[in-house]
Amino acid sequence: MPDSLAVIGADVRACRLCKLSQTRTLGVPGEGSPNAEIMFIGEGPGFHEDQQGRPFVGAAGQLLTEMLEVIGLRRQDVFITNVVRCRPPGNRDPLPDELAACDTYTLRQVAVLTPKLIVTLGRFSMARFFPPGPMRELHGRSRDWNGMTCLAMYHPAAILRTPTVEMRRIYEDDFRKIPPLLAEATKRREAQAMIATAATEPAKQLDQLPLF
Ligand code: URA
Repeated sequence: MPDSLAVIGADVRACRLCKLSQTRTLGVPGEGSPNAEIMFIGEGPGFHEDQQGRPFVGAAGQLLTEMLEVIGLRRQDVFITNVVRCRPPGNRDPLPDELAACDTYTLRQVAVLTPKLIVTLGRFSMARFFPPGPMRELHGRSRDWNGMTCLAMYHPAAILRTPTVEMRRIYEDDFRKIPPLLAEATKRREAQAMIATAATEPAKQLDQLPLF
């Protein structure tokens, strides 16, 4: 059976790969459009996410939804997940073995969605896709990761912890980088597809093409 978001979701809900499964209420696979061009990857479920089995449904999620609206997107247009899919007890940081175990689901979701843009929310997600560095230097920066564009951002909870006009402006500015990066990534994908088609085109067709 080919992999799919539904299969991955069922696997996450039944997952026993790490000890977070012993204390979770519900696993939180992630949610959004199966055709999403943008994937947002946060840290891990908090209290409300653990109760509901859905990502970013608390205060941080509300800010994420607001920021998406700033750039004309809705939650249902994108895919939202986390680097760990079960709640760390007391909202502690995820541990290296938990991150490593759950990475299999991140990679499967990336393989199924093949997003053009991956937006990392917070330091744990950033550490998965970016070379080491402080958030204050890396936020708003992008890089190529296996043919996908990655953009580093603060976690929305960090903005809520420092609710200044300046932080809000920085966050909005980072979100406003998404549409042009997506347009650029789309062009790159189209060019790759064109090259792949041309590479398999029989050479004989060249002399059948009309000259202008
Ligand atoms: N914080 C996260 O990183 N993920 C969630 O799903 C909720 C809060």
